[in-house]
Amino acid sequence: MEIFPVERIREDFPILKQHVYGKPLVYFDNGATTQKPVRVIETINRIHREQNASIHRSVNWMSDHMTQLYEDARKTIRAFIGAGKISEIIFTAGATASINAVAFSFGETFLEPGDEVLISTMEHHSNIVPWQLACERRGARLKVIPITDAGTIEMDAYRNLLGDKTRIVAVTHVSNTLGTINPVKEMIRLAHERDIPVLVDGAQAIQHTAVNMVDLDCDFYVFSGHKVYGPTGIGILYGKEQWLERLPPYQGGGDMIDRVTFEKTTFNELPFKFEAGTSNYIGAIGMAEAVAYISEIGMQAIHEYETGLRDYAAGLLSAFPGLSQYGTAPDKTAIFSFVLNNVHPFDTGMILDKFGIAVRTGTHCTMPLMNRFRIEGTVRASLCFYNTHQEIDRLMEGLQTVTDMLA
Ligand code: PMP
Repeated sequence: MEIFPVERIREDFPILKQHVYGKPLVYFDNGATTQKPVRVIETINRIHREQNASIHRSVNWMSDHMTQLYEDARKTIRAFIGAGKISEIIFTAGATASINAVAFSFGETFLEPGDEVLISTMEHHSNIVPWQLACERRGARLKVIPITDAGTIEMDAYRNLLGDKTRIVAVTHVSNTLGTINPVKEMIRLAHERDIPVLVDGAQAIQHTAVNMVDLDCDFYVFSGHKVYGPTGIGILYGKEQWLERLPPYQGGGDMIDRVTFEKTTFNELPFKFEAGTSNYIGAIGMAEAVAYISEIGMQAIHEYETGLRDYAAGLLSAFPGLSQYGTAPDKTAIFSFVLNNVHPFDTGMILDKFGIAVRTGTHCTMPLMNRFRIEGTVRASLCFYNTHQEIDRLMEGLQTVTDMLA
């Protein structure tokens, strides 16, 4: 196996060179957002400096050129996720916006009183609240798939919950708190046996492992640009054409229309029907640049390197006295949630920060999951391919200091 060129890769991320409180930054908050390689930053700068013009509208060279780059970005994303058709790739503001679009449009069209929406215990609030709102509007019910103590979906319970009233399943591909990689392909297959569509929240998966929409056969897949080394304010809603055709637009405005009169409006074709208003075209182009960057490194190489980091960190954390881990599924990404002795996660995070180690503390937008484990919060270290084994050693030293000071 080739050695992963992590030191060279780190050169692409200038922010990683920073010192925090006089210590070299260890950035372990990649689950919240990822850093941007220089070529993404420069692409965005270059457009603002040299080429900015609104897309799809004007008869001028720059606008035409920008439209071309925007539509090329869509093609890059299509290829990256192995979607069948370009019309199935919709640019949104992020994973949250994508889920809200589906929950609203699907809910208004297909949810009736007494119907059920099935989600899992480990969902991010972004994949809970939009469905709750849709259920409240339509008189439908939210049902929840239980999980095991290790943080895996209880598959028998899932099979039993799929019923005549289930209208849609919405499940995360990878848990942002536990790191669990869910068996989404099998879950989709089981739902499809009953003609139930599935939305997969890919916000924590797409940057760690290769995905293919045709192979996965999901009906909707969502993710955010800022978690795949691209800019904020941009994301993707993938939807199978046959579903997107059946759903009404989520928002009205410019670009999504075919003809407008005061009496009636007809809508644009896919994907534009779901892209109301001036879209974040610079964000879309920036995200495509990020996706091109990680594709060049190779998703397989990224996956293998990150698996090595995961195993190294898992071994050290498991051996650390008094440390309780949440999320110990065999199939997981390099996300670690833990509580150290009786130290409040916030205190652990504060002390680590003073050592230049950036982690996240709290509920990680998964309060129901915290209730499941009867805890108030955790410390979360979420790693990615620009992190190193030495940085994991720094985390362990930091945890030792926390223990010495507070435990
Ligand atoms: N789902 C999961 C699993 C996430 O981790 C996040 C972000 N933490 C989201 C959805 C929402 O993403 P965004 O805030 O970028 O819309």
